[in-house]
Amino acid sequence: MNFDLSEELSALQQKVRRFIAEEIIPYERDPRRTAHGPSEELRAELIAKGRSAELLSAHVSKEFGGLGLDHRAKAVFFEEAGYSLLGPVALNIAAPDEGNMHLMEVVARPEHKERWLRPLAAGEIRSCFCMTEPTPGAGSDPSMLQTTAVRDGDDYVINGRKWFTTGADGAAFAIIMAKLEDGRATMFLSDTDVPGFVVERAMDTLDSCFPGGHGVVRLDNVRVPAANILGELGEGFKYA
Ligand SMILES: Cc1cc2nc3c(=O)[nH]c(=O)nc-3n(C[C@H](O)[C@H](O)[C@H](O)COP(=O)(O)OP(=O)(O)OC[C@H]3O[C@@H](n4cnc5c(N)ncnc54)[C@H](O)[C@@H]3O)c2cc1C
Repeated sequence: MNFDLSEELSALQQKVRRFIAEEIIPYERDPRRTAHGPSEELRAELIAKGRSAELLSAHVSKEFGGLGLDHRAKAVFFEEAGYSLLGPVALNIAAPDEGNMHLMEVVARPEHKERWLRPLAAGEIRSCFCMTEPTPGAGSDPSMLQTTAVRDGDDYVINGRKWFTTGADGAAFAIIMAKLEDGRATMFLSDTDVPGFVVERAMDTLDSCFPGGHGVVRLDNVRVPAANILGELGEGFKYA
């Protein structure tokens, strides 16, 4: 098997390398990089640089505004991005947005892609992924999931508590993992400015490079329209 990089991919590798070295590393000591990650202002500045270099969201298809790279090209690109801890933020490939974009592109309905994936891939909004819960909830073993989603008319009503939710503070929307009354895990898409979605506090971790920090989130009777199930009912563990 030939692992040589094509000329095109080598050129992209050099471009990302220069971008990180010249445009992003100088930001590493910026005071707007707080103990709970870059401020929204700093993130916007970094994203603007990635956008003007035409390097945003490398893993997303061109249809949704990304570079549409294949797996090998992604590996090269992401490695270069990682030369600065702020690189993935500037290139819109930092967790959890990177994974959320990927998941949504694969399983989300067309209307969900337009509503949430497109602005996410453009770096206009941020997202979070609410799976892990305080003991005795979901962690290494997601089947310990405690958060419930109970059908009520056209909605599901979600109750539970999540933590280590990267980017929760300031995220525009969340992917929430909850179990149905029959125990099946399902992912729901919800804006975060809805009643009952409460970011209780930011957790102190070793990390200082993810915008929005790592939050504790309380889900207090959060109503999510059944139409906003991500993908299919009961497929939560498969998607995770
Ligand atoms: C910086 C950071 C960001 C994160 N961001 C997110 C996020 O955005 N969204 C989200 O949902 N989650 C997030 N997480 C949570 C992460 O997914 C969990 O921490 C991880 O799944 C482990 O779960 P836990 O913390 O509950 O640890 P536990 O499952 O309680 O594990 C504790 C310890 O026990 C060990 N252990 C567990 N089970 C076994 C076993 N069967 N046999 C032997 N040893 C075992 C583990 O290896 C670990 O050392 C984040 C975590 C961190 C640190």
